[in-house]
Formats: sequence, structure tokens, C-alpha cells
Amino acid sequence: MTENVKLLINGEFTESSASQWQEVRNPATQEVLARVPMCGSDEVAQAVAAAKAAFPAWRATPIAERARVFLRLQALIREHMDTLAATLTREQGKTLADAKGDVFRGLEVVEHACSVGSLQMGEFAENVAGGVDTYAIRQPLGVCAGITPFNFPAMIPLWMFPMACVTGNTFVLKPSEQDPMTPMLLAQLAQQAGLPKGVLNVVHGGVDAVNALCDHPDIKAISFVGSVGVGTHVYRRGSEHGKRVQAMLGAKNHAVFLPDANKEQTLNALVGAAFGAAGQRCMAISVAVLVGKARDWIPEIVARAQTLKVSAGHEAGADLGPLINRQALARVEKLIGQGVEEGAKLELDGRNPAVVGYPDGNFVGPTIFSGVKAGMQVYEQEIFGPVLCIVEVDTLDEAIAFVNANPYGNGTALFTQSGAAARRFQHDIDVGQVGINVPIPVPVPFFSFTGSRGSKLGDLGPYGKEVIRFYTQTKTVTARWFDDEATAGPVNTTISL
Ligand code: NAD
Repeated sequence: MTENVKLLINGEFTESSASQWQEVRNPATQEVLARVPMCGSDEVAQAVAAAKAAFPAWRATPIAERARVFLRLQALIREHMDTLAATLTREQGKTLADAKGDVFRGLEVVEHACSVGSLQMGEFAENVAGGVDTYAIRQPLGVCAGITPFNFPAMIPLWMFPMACVTGNTFVLKPSEQDPMTPMLLAQLAQQAGLPKGVLNVVHGGVDAVNALCDHPDIKAISFVGSVGVGTHVYRRGSEHGKRVQAMLGAKNHAVFLPDANKEQTLNALVGAAFGAAGQRCMAISVAVLVGKARDWIPEIVARAQTLKVSAGHEAGADLGPLINRQALARVEKLIGQGVEEGAKLELDGRNPAVVGYPDGNFVGPTIFSGVKAGMQVYEQEIFGPVLCIVEVDTLDEAIAFVNANPYGNGTALFTQSGAAARRFQHDIDVGQVGINVPIPVPVPFFSFTGSRGSKLGDLGPYGKEVIRFYTQTKTVTARWFDDEATAGPVNTTISL
């Protein structure tokens, strides 16, 4: 019997009554792992009602008690790391090492959530007028919701619900319907850690569930991570219904290579960041901009990419696993064909790799195009597969202008030994996450994830200090206390304290 993925509503793992279900498949084998319900507005409403009912008591729970739940959760995640990673690899496809990284980057956010006592502190100004003090307090919003993508089924749910709940909100998570089993394991661990009933709820599905979350009047804020098209829709629809929305979107990340870079380190970093997780990372390097004599490195980039092993994620020595589904495979293969038609030079063709033991997997091997120009579809589209586009320019200024002309601004990196060049790059580049000799510069949780231009909507990013502001509202209190002996003066009708 195939397992049915459960809902979590008011602390109970319940069977959905949805009329439509979707299969969750292992992308390396097509084995059906589970069936996931496509919830409608009724089940979303049940989850929101549970979260709304849980809010008053959770909001009143002392801050240290809330933090202690997340101290227990981080310990449980560590304890169950192998199970989480194995489940993640089975349903998402990435290698086991990468799956552990996915869990670990989320775990770091849980650890950071435990510092909420100092993170959520307000401000105080004494004697703003004679005998009057003003202070600002940060209070939770109420019910918040999270909508997450398939590519980081542990890390991205963990970007959201720990920070939302530790600040006193209650939460409804709608994970990707393509790999919902890992988020459900995390939800179980959160219950085990002592999160009270109704504080975290989980529903599943696609368009209908997402639209119901955008429309529900009791949801105060939505965190979204996913593609540009869906995120823009969620941002608009949620905003129209009066909610705060943060939306972290798609990407086309460029890394710029100056000829003075440490070549060995740099080329290893490039190949890992371009092809790791089969390119299905929002921070993957998908465009390499080779400056001046760095253009001579193309044969070595190709040679390194050819050493990578394509296989099922749990196989020893696998460097990259399959794409998430058949449609993604067909789309990536089509885009590679278009690149050839549009005149880019196919230096390495990863289509139809021979993967011993996995004839049915959604595999594409490392693929490299050189001679790529703006306007070609392989450059304009976020491919979200193991395809690297190489662009050649003569100067750093040209490289910066090229990166800034792309509509996306998620991540970028510069490889160089020159501090002056690095400083110019970090100052002039219009991209959210910048790496200097660091290929995938995802910030640790004391900072916030960000993005510029087409890669982000809303001003406050996930985790770090910004998300404390996102999940709380400020209340200022201006207070005067009268001395019993003080005598009242005449009535004063002017505005003054
Ligand atoms: P997606 O946009 O297809 O799905 C994201 C969520 O939206 C899922 O929960 C899905 O069920 C839901 N959804 C899908 N179609 C919908 C529709 N028509 N209406 C309403 N909801 C819908 O994204 P994905 O394919 O799961 O993830 C890959 C994308 O996410 C890439 O574009 C990647 O760059 C982006 N991403 C961005 C970041 C970031 O921080 N900027 C991080 C990870 C992934």
C-alpha cells in the first residue's frame, strides 16, 4: 500500500478528504513513494482555524519557554539527521551529502531561533518629555503562512516556521507537493519538541491551496519561496488581501572570473556550484563570465565537469542526482537543443547520460555552452538544470555591466586575488548575495537571505534580523505616571505631552 501523506491540523496527523491526489516519485527510479492530497479551501480553512485558536495562548507563552521548544527541536533534528537526509534524497533526488547540507542549513536557523530573547527586544527612550517615557515592543502578527519550493524541502520550511513561531505567531505551512515527506518529518519532530497543538499546521496541494492561503482573512503574513511567476502571483494576491508578503524568487547567477584568480580552487568551486544538486539550486552558478585571459580555461572547466558522476543520490560517489520530474527533464533537454540552434557552442552535452542501474531516472549530466550571448534562451531562462553558460568579456567593468543587465539579482561571485577588484565588484554589483572567492554565498542565519531586482518581492528577507521584523509588528507606548501628590493644572487643549 502506498503511504498517504497526512495533514497536520491542531496537533493531529490526519488523513485528507481531498478528491485529488498526486504521486510522490523517486526521481531516480520513478518508484511511487507516497500520495499527496491536493487540498482545497476547506482544509486550508481548518488549518487556519486551528492556528487562530492556538494563537492567544502561544502569544502569552513566556519567550524563554517558546525558545526551549526550538532548543529541543534542534537536538531532535541532529538525532534524526540520517533519516531526514535519506527521505530527502529519495523524494528529491540530491546526493546524501547534499541532503544533509539541506537539513543542516535549516538546522542553523532553528539554532538561531533559540536566541529570540535578544532578537525580539524592543527599544526604550526615557524622559522624551517631562516625566514621560516611550518604548517600542515587537508583537507577533497572528497566523502566518509559508509556501515552499521543491528544491530545499528541509532548509526552506526551516527558514520559515521556526522564526515565525518562536516570535509568538502560529503557522500554516504548504510545502511543495513534489517532496512533502521531508517537511512532514520536520513537522513530527516539531510536535515531539513540544510545540503546542495548532501552533504549526501543514496542508498540501498546489494552486487551490495557495490561492486559499492568499485569500484567507485570518492570515496576516505569507512567506513564499519559489519561481518568479508563482511568487509574483502570490505577492499580488496576498497583498490585495491586506497581508504582508515576502517572496524570494528565481535566479540566473553569474560568477565572474579574473585571470589572477587561484585557478585550481576557482575551477573546482565553479564546477561544484554549477552542477551540484543537478543545478536545482536558486544559488547555482549558471553563467560563468570569463574576463580576459581567463577565457583560456574553458577546456579545463570541461575536463573537470567530465569527472563528475551522475547517479541516484544515495549511490556512493554520486556527484549529481536526477532532476525532480519528467517535465523538468524534457524542459532542460529542450533548452539545450535551443542553445545549439541559437548558435551557442555545446562544449559538453549531458543529455541522455548512461546511468548504470537507473534507466528510468530523470538524469541530465553536466552540460556546458560557450559563446553564449544575451538574448539566447539558454541565457534568458532560468534553466534549473546542470547547464553552465560561458560568456567572455575583456574587462571587469564589462563583466559588472553584463551581470547588472540581467533581470535577476539573487547571487553572484567574483574570483580574484585583487582586493581592489573585489571591493569595486561588491560596491557596483546589483545582486543580493555576493561571494568573494565563495561560489554559493548563502548567508548564515545571523544575517538575512536577500535578493535584488527580479529575484525578490517585498523588502524583508527570510531569517536573521529582517525576519524578526517581518513576523512582528511594532507598538509604541508613550507613558506618564502621576505622582499621587501632584496637583493637576488647568485643562490644556494644545497638542503636547
Ligand atoms: P514553484 O514556483 O513552481 O513552486 C513553489 C510553490 O508554489 C510550491 O509550493 C507549489 O506548490 C506552488 N505553486 C506551483 N504552481 C503554482 C500556481 N500556479 N499557483 C499557485 N501556487 C503554485 O517553484 P519550484 O519549481 O518548486 O522551485 C524552483 C524555483 O524556486 C526556482 O525558480 C528557484 O530559483 C526558486 N527558488 C528561489 C529561492 C530563493 O531564495 N530566491 C530558493 C529556492 C528556490
